[in-house]
Amino acid sequence: MSEFSVTLPSGKVWVPKFVGEIDQDKCIGCGRCYKVCGREVLEMVGVNEDGEMVRIGADADEDDDDEYDKKVMSIANVDNCIGCESCAKICPKQCYTHVPVAA
Ligand code: SF4
Ligand code: SF4
Repeated sequence: MSEFSVTLPSGKVWVPKFVGEIDQDKCIGCGRCYKVCGREVLEMVGVNEDGEMVRIGADADEDDDDEYDKKVMSIANVDNCIGCESCAKICPKQCYTHVPVAA
């Protein structure tokens, strides 16, 4: 299987590795990955005591923080990812898995 790659103006070939999974058991909800991603791929969510995800973005009600136990990062718009791996590099808990895709 050949991997999707990009030829840069220099002529060098780059194989992007796209965001695959975030290990939410390891995530501490620090938000560092969110800050470095310029592609609006990621979204912080709450997790309640039953392990269910609760939206906590700008749309959420003010008292929504009563509805979850902790915050974790999630993948909201995977199709926006350009495979730069900045999120993985900044993550202090090694939560990320990135994968190349077939050409
Ligand atoms: S690999 Fe890059 S574009 Fe994709 S989610 Fe991470 S920081 Fe965003
Ligand atoms: S940088 Fe890592 S630990 Fe921090 S919110 Fe992102 S995935 Fe979670």
